[in-house]
Amino acid sequence: MSRPSDQTRSPAPLERLAAWDREHVWHAFTQMQEYQPLLIERGEGCTLVDTAGQRYLDGSASMWCNVHGHAHPRLDAALAAQAAKISHTTNLGLSNPTTVEFARRLVEIAPAGLEKVFFSGDGSSAIEAALKIAFQYWLQADPPRQGRTKFIAIGEAYHGDTLGAVAVGGVDRFTSVFAPLTFEPIRLPSPGGTCPSTGAAAPTLGASLELLERVLVEHEGNVAAMVMEPILQAAAGIWIHPEGYLRGVRELTKRHGVLLILDEVAVGFGRTGTMFACEQEEVIPDFLCLAKGLTAGYLPMAATLTTHEIWKAFLGTHAERRTFFHGHSYGGNPLAAAVGLESLNIFRDERVLEGLPPKIERLQEQLARIAGLDHVGAVRVRGLVAGIDLVADKTSRRAFPWQEQRGMKASLAARKHGAILRPLGDVVVLWPPLSIALDELDRLCIAAEAGIRAATESG
Ligand code: PMP
Repeated sequence: MSRPSDQTRSPAPLERLAAWDREHVWHAFTQMQEYQPLLIERGEGCTLVDTAGQRYLDGSASMWCNVHGHAHPRLDAALAAQAAKISHTTNLGLSNPTTVEFARRLVEIAPAGLEKVFFSGDGSSAIEAALKIAFQYWLQADPPRQGRTKFIAIGEAYHGDTLGAVAVGGVDRFTSVFAPLTFEPIRLPSPGGTCPSTGAAAPTLGASLELLERVLVEHEGNVAAMVMEPILQAAAGIWIHPEGYLRGVRELTKRHGVLLILDEVAVGFGRTGTMFACEQEEVIPDFLCLAKGLTAGYLPMAATLTTHEIWKAFLGTHAERRTFFHGHSYGGNPLAAAVGLESLNIFRDERVLEGLPPKIERLQEQLARIAGLDHVGAVRVRGLVAGIDLVADKTSRRAFPWQEQRGMKASLAARKHGAILRPLGDVVVLWPPLSIALDELDRLCIAAEAGIRAATESG
């Protein structure tokens, strides 16, 4: 006779696992009433394999995280080697060799002058840390500037789901319900796309920078920092900023003594073709927020990089109360650091960035075909990421009613053609691991095209 403990040890039949998934797991950003379980059991390079043995290309890099592919032998070995030493130790007043080495390597590859690394757990916490450090910095600067309490953020920005990150986030459908719980930033329209709530077209580069300058003058001495995703706003729908915007923002914020927080949680680690997106406009921020690809998509870890100038305002005796009283239990976790370190070695040894141009070119070629589909209104591509707008009418670019969830339908239909995609509303997103091969890219695009046709060309 088997005891309950034996039963829980025996492998559950697949249907039971799917039932438990629906019953017990509350999935992120998912309407659970409509959720259809799909259980991924393993990964091999850019391929995900479900519990039934079905194979899919990982078209969202497992939520924009994966860089070198799944089950990478070098990353797996680095993880195992670290686990054999120690899996976790706190970084509250204590350290470990792997985390120190990782911090040093990050500083070496980051834009010059970003030499202090505050580790945390997820992208949202990297942003929270930056917002809080920036706020506290002005209270402790020499001389202190207590008036600098406001933040500037841009339309359709997405910086995560904790309350500080929600406050500076600008995607209404994610944030509006929590508005009573958050502070209000000074919001500027994004230069990357049409505002979905007002329908206003994106301001031009010149108008955007003029507006920022006006805001900085109007709020002179009252702004702590401006926060933005550089070059490309991911969750907005893969919106791309006009060339020169980031550089202009840096010049203006510097002129007005405002700190610049760049959120490279999504675009860091090669996504737009350079290690960090801000390199493309030779911009050095005061804070650089990293996560996702920081550990090649293996483990949760985030980092907020900042300057000596900021850091030194927090120095003093304990009694002076200048300490940054903020931290997370797993900040600087050595397993994550070991994988992150090995990921940087792979970037170097396998010349990952140098290998991107032919892939980017292939993606562009494939997208040129997809752009011709009857219900594709626009295609945006930068580096190894693309957003494909689905529209009801190609000429007028009239949107489908949002309730019809065409983007989600297209992504689900693409599964039948061997690819897992995650849309942003009616934008179909292609965000493969950087390690994707050319023939895999072709297959990914063919699957996306089939999904789009299935979701838009009938009914
Ligand atoms: N910033 C950006 C630009 C992001 O895309 C995300 C997540 N998609 C976050 C912050 C939040 O990161 P996390 O989900 O790891 O908290």
